[in-house]
Amino acid sequence: MFINGEWVDAQGGATFDVTNPATGEKIGEMPDGAAADAELAIQAADAAFAGWSTTTAYARADILMRAWQLMNDQADELAHLMTMEQGKPLKAARFEVGYGADFLRWFAEEARRITGQWLPSSRPDQRFLSVRQPVGVVAAITPWNYPISMLTRKMGPALAAGCTMVLKPAEATPLCAKAIFEILAEAGVPAGVMNMVTAQDPVPIGDIFTSDRRVKKLTFTGSTAVGKMLAGKAAASLQRVSVELGGHAPFIVYPDADPEQAAKGAAALKFLNSGQACISPNRLYVHRDAADAFIGTLTKRVSALQTGNGMHDGVGVGPLVNAAAVEKVAAQVEDARSKGAGIPVGGYRMTEGDLCDGHFYAPTLLTDVTPDMTVYREETFGPVAPVVVYDDVDQVIELANDTHYGLAAYVYTQNLKTAISAFEALRFGIVGINDVNPTSAAVPFGGMNDSGLGREGGHEGLDEYLETKTAGISLR
Ligand code: NAD
Repeated sequence: MFINGEWVDAQGGATFDVTNPATGEKIGEMPDGAAADAELAIQAADAAFAGWSTTTAYARADILMRAWQLMNDQADELAHLMTMEQGKPLKAARFEVGYGADFLRWFAEEARRITGQWLPSSRPDQRFLSVRQPVGVVAAITPWNYPISMLTRKMGPALAAGCTMVLKPAEATPLCAKAIFEILAEAGVPAGVMNMVTAQDPVPIGDIFTSDRRVKKLTFTGSTAVGKMLAGKAAASLQRVSVELGGHAPFIVYPDADPEQAAKGAAALKFLNSGQACISPNRLYVHRDAADAFIGTLTKRVSALQTGNGMHDGVGVGPLVNAAAVEKVAAQVEDARSKGAGIPVGGYRMTEGDLCDGHFYAPTLLTDVTPDMTVYREETFGPVAPVVVYDDVDQVIELANDTHYGLAAYVYTQNLKTAISAFEALRFGIVGINDVNPTSAAVPFGGMNDSGLGREGGHEGLDEYLETKTAGISLR
């Protein structure tokens, strides 16, 4: 673990194994921390806050830029580690490293733009000044599916704002987190400013993060159930909270869309990271006029996907994170099959040959999907594309909005009016319009309803780490 600028063992001395989800092999071990370790980390972050928050924005930006440069210099090694630890194909891992690094550059640039306001008063002999200051110690809890970019998306703005941090990475991917902390230390982040606690059991760490009075903000990315529970605990301590949670994205193909283009987009997006993305489409609504061409192209594309160890050339779909994830996907597919779904491609676990020790499920297309199927409501987090054919264009937005989630939605149409009307009516935080990658460090990312609170990235991403202070100044 990384506490007060030192690499340390857990106080209890325990460790846990990290394994490769494609092969089941042990690839490393990390300290198995507990509540006392989390407390030490918070103590270090609290002690470092006075110094870091008064460092100039120029100095903080320089450190972030150095870290961005180091991530780029080490991109191949980081991508290699990510594929070994998390499973996504090397090319996708390389892409994530670039995306993750970009949050450091973007927030380095934003750091120098944290300004205040000079405000009018109704009294001629009074002036008002308002400034934005860092909130204090931030506790961060991150997921395994994007084990680098989900960290830098929190670290970038926290460091830029002048906050200090304690972070607990997902137990499946602590090695990627360790590599990023090594980079931050090398870039010159002072001791105590960034601290990392690893643990196999997240509960005691989460309890300390949400109850310690020295922690002023909780930032969490992960499942809706855990996010809600942690937000509840943080509320009791009146911590600021931002939570990026699950999703159930609709992907709407209007009758005037190019169905082949839409199917290419759907195939690229749905199977990215084996479907383990919070913005992954979970309901593909295709108008009956476009259905044959769309399903035909999608079937061809899904059949052509090569599944396997992400280290191997040509592999486009890697393993799922663990056996429980494969179980969940298989259960959803069996439920859909039993309720009448067609399965033109996939629909089975992959356990042959080299894949026998990994967690693989075949890229799957489901047709004739209906609202009574679990897959229609529950986040899949796996390589399954459920297609629903619809007839009424006036009703499709209502269908798309019929979910407790509200993170991402996608619209394919060639009509500007349709695109804008859909964009405005969809109750989702992010909408891709003929576009499968509506994310960037420069734009706000986040959801509505059960998909979370707050935004990461963009100008808004920095606001989450700042609070406003006002001075009334008498000229009498
Ligand atoms: P998860 O909620 O199980 O775990 C996320 C993190 O929370 C991990 O670090 C884990 O150790 C920790 N955690 C789990 N239980 C905890 C507890 N009781 N107390 C404290 N910490 C606890 O989620 P996951 O399975 O790792 O990630 C997948 C989920 O994350 C999906 O639902 C996905 O949609 C979501 N996600 C959302 C975004 C987004 O930006 N909205 C991005 C990536 C992933």
